[in-house]
Amino acid sequence: MLPPNKKIGIIGGGQLGKMLIEAGQPWNVHYTILETQSAPAADIANKHIVGDLMDAGKIKELAAECDVLTYEIEHINVEALLELEKSGKRIIPSPAILRIIQDKGLQKLFFRDQDIPTTEFEIAENPSQWMDKLLKLRGEKIAAKLRKGGYDGKGVELVNKSDMMNFHDRIPFREPVVLEEFVENAVELSVIVARTEKGEISTFPTVEMQFDPVANLVEFLFAPADISPAIEEKARRIAMETISKLNGAGIFAVEMFLDQDHNIFVNEVAPRPHNSGHHTIEACYTSQYEQLNRILLDLPLGSTGLVKPAAMINLLGFEGITGAYEITGLDKILKLEGVYIHLYNKASTKPKRKMGHVTILGDTIAEVKEKASTVKQFLGMKQRLAL
Ligand code: ADP
Repeated sequence: MLPPNKKIGIIGGGQLGKMLIEAGQPWNVHYTILETQSAPAADIANKHIVGDLMDAGKIKELAAECDVLTYEIEHINVEALLELEKSGKRIIPSPAILRIIQDKGLQKLFFRDQDIPTTEFEIAENPSQWMDKLLKLRGEKIAAKLRKGGYDGKGVELVNKSDMMNFHDRIPFREPVVLEEFVENAVELSVIVARTEKGEISTFPTVEMQFDPVANLVEFLFAPADISPAIEEKARRIAMETISKLNGAGIFAVEMFLDQDHNIFVNEVAPRPHNSGHHTIEACYTSQYEQLNRILLDLPLGSTGLVKPAAMINLLGFEGITGAYEITGLDKILKLEGVYIHLYNKASTKPKRKMGHVTILGDTIAEVKEKASTVKQFLGMKQRLAL
């Protein structure tokens, strides 16, 4: 069965693509990426087709030379992929799923239709519809989300209902949005689900994400999550049901909110490896990236068991630094046991840009948390003058 001598095409060349390639290198898999410019995955891909992710011609060029296609970003030309799939190309996950996920409105309607627990919501096409829609929702705080084009918290605004009704000029979006009831004091959980085309399914242990409240980005992540076995079981079951109902093949992150009464609401699904699964590279027997390679290569799924408790810290671009940069503190961090640094090879930084991540392993979650805060203190960034 191995070496598979298969060619995998990846649409997008960011850090998720880079880590997918790294995971396949021991098996000598051949990767071609489609990406506009120099990007994290470009230096290690076997081939780089330079082109826009919306360019149907370039996507076809990529498809023509690969056995199977996948993508590591949602904002790509889904129509071109649907056409290719119709003509018999293997695309994982199916673009039909991507079409639902690209649009937060369709995604929420899918959850509602399929009885997947999710927060109550309304869809507003334009600001003039906000008032009526807001009145149908409970609570004063509302999460307003652009239906299309948002990522990493961009395109999401937490608003006050009364503000929006009294001061129309404060409505943050003109475009179609989903308006959602806000889950107070939510614990944010994520379950990575792997599902093969034949329907074999497995989940990685549930993780707990702590968000930077300003940037809306994952700041710390802990695995396993600090939840009871019953909640763990429930989170995994809901995540598996969500992906089975989507009939998805591939790797999916199911992001959820756990409220104070132990209700779980599915927030959203990502049809690709996810930030909340980076730690699986060192912390699990099989990483989310290896698991996706297995699915793409039609190999059996691997064990998702946790080898050790872990934390993950995103290394985000520092405030006040743009362009050429240098990461500092690595000398100190490298001396710590069970600490793994991943750098995404991005030529320039800007505030909050994802530049790398650090995974921390330990014998207990308490030890991991302590080591993670030490790492966080050491991690620094300084401006480098471009030559
Ligand atoms: P993105 O797709 O950009 O990641 P999300 O829909 O995940 O956007 O929202 C970003 C963050 O905003 C969430 O991780 C969470 O912290 C907060 N948030 C979004 N919706 C809600 C909600 N209904 N209740 C509570 N917090 C929310």
